[in-house]
Amino acid sequence: MDVQEKIKKLRKEIELYSYYYYVEDNPKIEDYEYDALFRELQKLENEHPELITPDSPTQRVGGISEKFEAVAHKNRLYSLDNANNDEELSKWYERVLKDTTGLDGQLNLFSPKIPLACEYKIDGLAVSLTYVNGVFTQGLTRGDGIVGEDITNNLKTIKAIPLKLFEPVNVEVRGEVYMPIASFEKLNAKQLEAGQKTFANPRNAAAGTVRQLDPKITASRDLSIFVYGGIFDKNEAPKTHSETMAKLTKLGFRTNKVTVVEGIEEAINFCKKTDELRHTLNYATDGVVIKVDEISKQLELGFTSRVPKWAIAFKFPPEEVWTDIESIEFSVGRKGIITPVSNLKPVLLAGSTVSRASLYNFDEIQRLNVQVGDRALVKKAAEIIPKVIRVEKTQNSKPFEMPKTCPCCSTPLVEVEGEVALYCPNKSGCSAQIKGRIEYFVSKNAMDIDGLGESIISQLVERKMVYTYADLYELTYEQLLELDLIAEKSAQNLLDAINASKNTKLPKFINALGIRLVGKESADILSQNFENIEALKNASIEDLNAIDGIGEKMAKSIYDYFHNEENLKTLNKVLNLGLKLENTYRREEDLKLKGLSFVLTGTLEEFSRDKAQEILKSLGAKTPNSVSKNTDYVIAGANAGSKLTKAQNLGIKIINEDEFKELINYKEDL
Ligand code: NAD
Repeated sequence: MDVQEKIKKLRKEIELYSYYYYVEDNPKIEDYEYDALFRELQKLENEHPELITPDSPTQRVGGISEKFEAVAHKNRLYSLDNANNDEELSKWYERVLKDTTGLDGQLNLFSPKIPLACEYKIDGLAVSLTYVNGVFTQGLTRGDGIVGEDITNNLKTIKAIPLKLFEPVNVEVRGEVYMPIASFEKLNAKQLEAGQKTFANPRNAAAGTVRQLDPKITASRDLSIFVYGGIFDKNEAPKTHSETMAKLTKLGFRTNKVTVVEGIEEAINFCKKTDELRHTLNYATDGVVIKVDEISKQLELGFTSRVPKWAIAFKFPPEEVWTDIESIEFSVGRKGIITPVSNLKPVLLAGSTVSRASLYNFDEIQRLNVQVGDRALVKKAAEIIPKVIRVEKTQNSKPFEMPKTCPCCSTPLVEVEGEVALYCPNKSGCSAQIKGRIEYFVSKNAMDIDGLGESIISQLVERKMVYTYADLYELTYEQLLELDLIAEKSAQNLLDAINASKNTKLPKFINALGIRLVGKESADILSQNFENIEALKNASIEDLNAIDGIGEKMAKSIYDYFHNEENLKTLNKVLNLGLKLENTYRREEDLKLKGLSFVLTGTLEEFSRDKAQEILKSLGAKTPNSVSKNTDYVIAGANAGSKLTKAQNLGIKIINEDEFKELINYKEDL
């Protein structure tokens, strides 16, 4: 396709999407997709200016419907040029400096800092309101910038638009009609209930509402306005944009805050701060508008056929985007769990290109009804890992098939009762699981071995140099040198780091073992309750289950781990290789109540039962729930019941709260 044809095709596409967006209030594609087409057209036209025609979308603003009377604007309305990043903002500022000061070239420390007015970019519908002698006479949509739709009667229903100003001035103001987020959500819920069309976003809802033929419908929905500019009679015109805004506020208009900064760097900071706080606002913003504050400079800079040269909109990166699911892949975790991951057509999301998104598990795939070939709405979860939140079918959508065998070792997968996951049961032979376990073993919260990254671990496992974590401690300098991309110095550093990790702390090592259901927190709890790895190894399910914070399933998983021959072999091997585990939680001198058994009954004044048990356990005591001949002490609080009687019958020593406090006194801060 030659350039001319490409341009023609792009224009046709953009015009069609503009029609749906501006006239029907029913966008067919996402804004960022539209913007990408628009930018592509702009780029081609910049490269071939001879192909620019006055009716190209790059030379025009918006669109107009035939629903309302078309009225010519007295002063033209424009769109805004937009910038997606700091660099584009700086480029705009360079052009501003060039046109106002004659300074050409890249910004540097000494570039002049001119006052810039920064405002939130409200995501709504632009309107122009005319006031004659302080009375609202006409309200128009932006339309195509030259002609707007007369929606005066609808605008009169918006309470935030004053019908009469505090002073009898003549002014034409520009503002953004918007729908607060909560009202938008309520409206959509109502529409859904009534079986009517819902709106894609607050902007479309506002545009659709203000352009209703029946003003009663407009009045019934909650719309508001922020005024962001005004054209006064010449003798009344302020000298700066910020003064104009102050004047408009004084006249009774609803305006948003204007922050005047010096130079583009401060404006960029303002954009960053706004991006962070915008979710706390009760209206939608899609960016920040930066305007040259001085009106005389604005006049100097002027307009293109579509936008003012004295302003720019910084657009926030999209946080949710649509893209295509190209394939679904299955990854095997260190515990053998199979996780489905979607491969996406790369797309820009919240500032970075995303090409994969987690699908979490097979229930999630069913819940979302995800298939290869679907369009998927992708969002950054917790701002880091992208996830698929919604899909739409396309003609390329293909039925999803559950995997039957492990993608790494081809072992048939198994389901564990009561769990949503599928597992590869080949623990010791599946290289993906071995790699995962080693990666976990060496990670920060575990053995913290520096320099053992993914690629080295992968080589060690693929070359069958390492099967278990214990094998790491038998690696030699020569073996490490065999690996790709490892030089003499890094081989030695790695060896030193592995050796250094032999002196570690018990909770870190317990965590490093990667026992199913046991993470860092549980490893801490276990270290508080078992003096050393030997004691943990010999614990019964009951011992484990009696520990606060160790549930039934975890207790069984820990017990199973230490009763598996292969696990024990690896553990013994590493202990024989000189692994030293210091238990930071359990020093001998802290175990004042070691071996003693305490039963609590009744209510203590200063301690909840849980707290008292926690203290006793931390001092080495056991705290079973019932009294037996093995009980050493019964702590009796107010309203003690049958346990007290039983203890008395068995002749067990009974202590009250004060005696209990005395017993633990030296550790009051527990
Ligand atoms: P725009 O929305 O990017 O910026 C211009 C508008 O910003 C102004 O007209 C004004 O109404 C508004 N604005 C809000 N706060 C302002 C403030 N403080 N100061 C000045 N102006 C402020 O430009 P546009 O021409 O209205 O529309 C282009 C946008 O519409 C693009 O983002 C594009 O993605 C979207 N669009 C989407 C589709 C689609 O199919 N999804 C189609 C057409 C256009």
